[in-house]
Amino acid sequence: MAVTGKPAVLGGDAVFAEGLPLTRLKVPERDELARRLDRILTSGQLTDGSTVRELEEAVAARLEVPYVVAVSNCTSGLMLALQALGARGSVAMPGFTFSATAHAAHWAGATPVFAEMDPDTLTLDPDDAAALLAESSASVLMATHVYGTPCRVEDLAKVADDAGVPLVYDAAHALGSRRAGTPIGGFGAAEVFSLSPTKVVVAGEGGLIATRDEGLAQACRLGRGYGNPGDYDCVFPGLNARMSELHAALALASLKGLSERVATRSHLVGVFADAVRGVPGLRLPALAEGDVSTWKDLTLIVEPDAFGLDVPTLAAALKAEGIDSRRYFYPPVHRQKAYAHLPARELPVTDDVSARVLTLPLWSHMDEGTVGLVADAVLRVHEFAGAVAAVG
Ligand SMILES: *Cc1c(COP(=O)(O)O)cnc(C)c1O
Repeated sequence: MAVTGKPAVLGGDAVFAEGLPLTRLKVPERDELARRLDRILTSGQLTDGSTVRELEEAVAARLEVPYVVAVSNCTSGLMLALQALGARGSVAMPGFTFSATAHAAHWAGATPVFAEMDPDTLTLDPDDAAALLAESSASVLMATHVYGTPCRVEDLAKVADDAGVPLVYDAAHALGSRRAGTPIGGFGAAEVFSLSPTKVVVAGEGGLIATRDEGLAQACRLGRGYGNPGDYDCVFPGLNARMSELHAALALASLKGLSERVATRSHLVGVFADAVRGVPGLRLPALAEGDVSTWKDLTLIVEPDAFGLDVPTLAAALKAEGIDSRRYFYPPVHRQKAYAHLPARELPVTDDVSARVLTLPLWSHMDEGTVGLVADAVLRVHEFAGAVAAVG
């Protein structure tokens, strides 16, 4: 099926008359999951049980790290890791990240301060992170593997070491990503993953703290259970951030086939990239040679002058084609109302690029034909850009 004629926004037929959502859940193998859930319910042990331990061990083996602590979500995992690392004063992080990165620092008792992105990869710019650490005396550096693209972990390790601060990764998107062959999970003091419903591995809600530091793992284990070592004489104010056995069962089922899903997503992104190659003013985040991204999101970076349309107009035209999209991450965190009271630090690259990102539908069991049609829809909107801009 070829996409011909006028774009839907100009009165043509919509490419996806039924609508194409941003993501679709890959339902894990049901029989095994049902058996596992049945065993959990029969046991009566719905939390603090063997399923969470099994998940932690399976993920630790996969990530090649000694310790994994399962938690109720990535946000609480980041809070616990920051608390354990003694975050105070300010915590440095990219402005281009999900709000939860900054919220975690706030709830751990610190103030977020923001650094620039690298415009090619959209991950934290190590040079600006170093400048920010020098001017802010932040107690922790955080970085996000945006969309699953590995950060420049070697450079960031040096920046953090030089400043004498621990480095924590928001790895929410990156379960299955690799940096030059090494799984994301073992870098920095801790890396924290999300298993929320839009991620590539899901638990319903859930998070995983991965670390090589035994003391940090122990502090996070204590912290996820109120800070109670077992005798109800809490040693510090913790959270209830436990993962339930039921969520761990879903996570174990969803972990199966992860490598294949990541390979499929890379392939589909390649199909899309080939289809839009040559269209002026469109690019995807750069991935370093030898790195693996989960491609948690398929995000376009649009150059409005060259492409002929700005992001809101492109998004509206795609909506008319039935194609859902999101501006991940716009507004960037330093521009959000929650942080408007903080002293401003100019982030011109982040402000510019974040206004030009648009995330398109992608899921692990999407077929090539669907990706091709999404690319065709983008091409068609570009072809009619002048007329689309006039109605938009
Ligand atoms: C989803 C997400 C989070 C939050 O994860 P939860 O498990 O929902 O707490 C944090 N950071 C990034 C980059 C995310 O995309």
